[in-house]
Amino acid sequence: MNDIKYDAFKQFQSNLDTAAELLGYERKEYDTLRYPERELTVYIPVEMDNGEVVVYTGYRVQHSSVRGPCKGGIRYHPNTDLTEVKALAGWMSLKCAVANIPYGGAKGGVCVDPSKLSKGELKRLTRRYTTMILPFIGPQKDIPAPDVNTNGEVMAWIMDTYSMLHGYTIPGVVTGKPISIGGSLGRSEATGRGVMFVTRALLEKIGRSLIGTKIAVQVFGNVDSIAAKLLQKEGAIIVGISDVSGAYYNDNGFDIESIIAETSKGKLLSDLSIDGKAISNAELLTSECDILIPAALENQINESNADLIKANIIIEAANGPTTVGADKILTSKNKILVPDILANSGGVIVSYFEWVQNIQSITWEEPDVNKMLKKIILQAFDNVYETKEKYHTTYRQGAYAFALKSIAEAKNVRGIFP
Ligand code: NAD
Repeated sequence: MNDIKYDAFKQFQSNLDTAAELLGYERKEYDTLRYPERELTVYIPVEMDNGEVVVYTGYRVQHSSVRGPCKGGIRYHPNTDLTEVKALAGWMSLKCAVANIPYGGAKGGVCVDPSKLSKGELKRLTRRYTTMILPFIGPQKDIPAPDVNTNGEVMAWIMDTYSMLHGYTIPGVVTGKPISIGGSLGRSEATGRGVMFVTRALLEKIGRSLIGTKIAVQVFGNVDSIAAKLLQKEGAIIVGISDVSGAYYNDNGFDIESIIAETSKGKLLSDLSIDGKAISNAELLTSECDILIPAALENQINESNADLIKANIIIEAANGPTTVGADKILTSKNKILVPDILANSGGVIVSYFEWVQNIQSITWEEPDVNKMLKKIILQAFDNVYETKEKYHTTYRQGAYAFALKSIAEAKNVRGIFP
């Protein structure tokens, strides 16, 4: 079901070019933003439990530092490559600009299936990878965070490695850490909470409400399980769920809290007895629902299935789930699509709060974190909405145009060094 020769970075560039056209920019005014500032490939030797040495490939890409230190997660996935990481880094620059937080964009990845590694192997891989990207990261340079298949524990290993090699504790080098070492209250739920705020704001804008709205979520990871829980609390009916083990549909909705109680113990959906029809992950995307929330990987909605999507609203909780070709099909059918760089920005917004707390050595209460997240993400929503209306375009292009303008203005006042 994938587009032939899918290239995430070309998708990023293509959307950026369209936004530049809307703004009336000549290529020279934004050309540097079509490329990353820096891309690093590392080959990470890891001593496995059986004594063999396996060399894994890892990346760290810094797309832009124009508006502040680079910021972006680290992904552990067997299919990750430089093209994907470059696109993810570019999207981070735009996301931070949409949220108006003082960061540029970066991303990291290691080409590995972490489910096949023991905890010791994963820890050695993480520590060695950190050592190899060490000259490029730091609280004022580039601040990693969790992404697909990485979590607070992995962030703790990165923070510890970085700190040991500097000789003192430096919490602000990563975000998404456990609370005991400087993590922020509210960070683990932030991306999902942001998805809920944006979904609710959109429905209000178009005169609808979450109560009784049927939502399918692909998948049940960190982001979507929380989004599903919070949306259900607001009155939505979660009719579709999935993870790597399979997908399920129930027109009457699932009890999300009780499913999370099991999956948070490390169980897959296929390990549970789920009250619903077993379907494929592909069927979940085209299932009967009002809102579809993709939260897995890139290229899930493409030219082979866009026409079959029944949901009238798509909220991109994942980064890059919809291709440029699919976007055109959905727009031609008057579907509303809220783009990743707005919809999932709750994670980086609260990462920013975590970093602010770390560098000031203070802690915020959770209600304050959630209140500030709501304020910033709803302001971002309004800015995107106004830009979209001004240029008579889509939410994606509204978001790209707002972000591009903000980064280009910062670049122009700084000028090109030397
Ligand atoms: P995660 O590792 O917590 O969850 C990923 C989920 O995807 C798991 O449930 C896994 O079973 C499932 N999965 C993996 N491959 C799959 C496949 N081929 N088919 C079906 N299911 C599959 O990851 P996450 O942190 O929830 O990230 C999900 C998406 O959200 C990614 O696109 C990520 O970049 C984006 N995102 C995450 C954050 C964050 O704070 N974690 C912030 C912004 C955006």
